[in-house]
Amino acid sequence: MKPVIGITASILLREQGISAGTERTFVNNDYIEAVIRAGGIPVILPIMSEDDLIAMSINSVDGIIFSGGVDINPLFYQEEPVPKLGEVFVERDEYEFKAVKAAYQSGKPILGICRGIQLLNVVFGGSLYQDLETQYPSTVAKHVQEARRDVKTHSVVIEKDTLLNKIMGTTAIQTNSFHHQAVKSVAPGFRVCARAADGVIEGIEKQDYPFLLGVQWHPEGMFSKHDEMLRLFTALVKAANTKKELA
Ligand code: MN
Repeated sequence: MKPVIGITASILLREQGISAGTERTFVNNDYIEAVIRAGGIPVILPIMSEDDLIAMSINSVDGIIFSGGVDINPLFYQEEPVPKLGEVFVERDEYEFKAVKAAYQSGKPILGICRGIQLLNVVFGGSLYQDLETQYPSTVAKHVQEARRDVKTHSVVIEKDTLLNKIMGTTAIQTNSFHHQAVKSVAPGFRVCARAADGVIEGIEKQDYPFLLGVQWHPEGMFSKHDEMLRLFTALVKAANTKKELA
């Protein structure tokens, strides 16, 4: 049995056609393909509000990917919304907060992607830039690229002797970039493991925990063209397999 990797989902509202008004649970399919290619069994984790179901659902998987999506409600990090804040989805925030805590308590390997890194930072007490273009204190690079998802548009420097460094096997990579928010104050117990050239935080990881890593780019949108990006998923699957065998 291969390790099961849960991927957090979002909801799409059909606005037109015969099913107008229907809400559909979804994840972008490239997450599914990345987990399969990495040797895991992907399952979609829908948004729920029942605490016991969330805990049981999280316990039924061996590792979790917190996927990309809309902005986190800044009230969760004690800030009022700025004019450039994007769309928020508070039911997903509430579900994912509980899911992170359940996953953490049971020691599951956790990978946060884009919104996922921001979520991890906020759950553990950090804050975010709500909008880099209007709030970042120095000159900021273009972090919302118009190029295709598999195109590398900025460089990222990885800190030596971090989990991310061990996974990628290098300190210099290039990534795609589809975020207008980023980590501001880093949550206690976390360290920054990657930054863009303008200083924007592109990776954080929790110290004293086997595998809790967030990246600001979208490796699932890159791995089919850039092999090295699959390493993040194979590392998660491997950690999930180890955890499963210990259980
Ligand atoms: Mn970026």
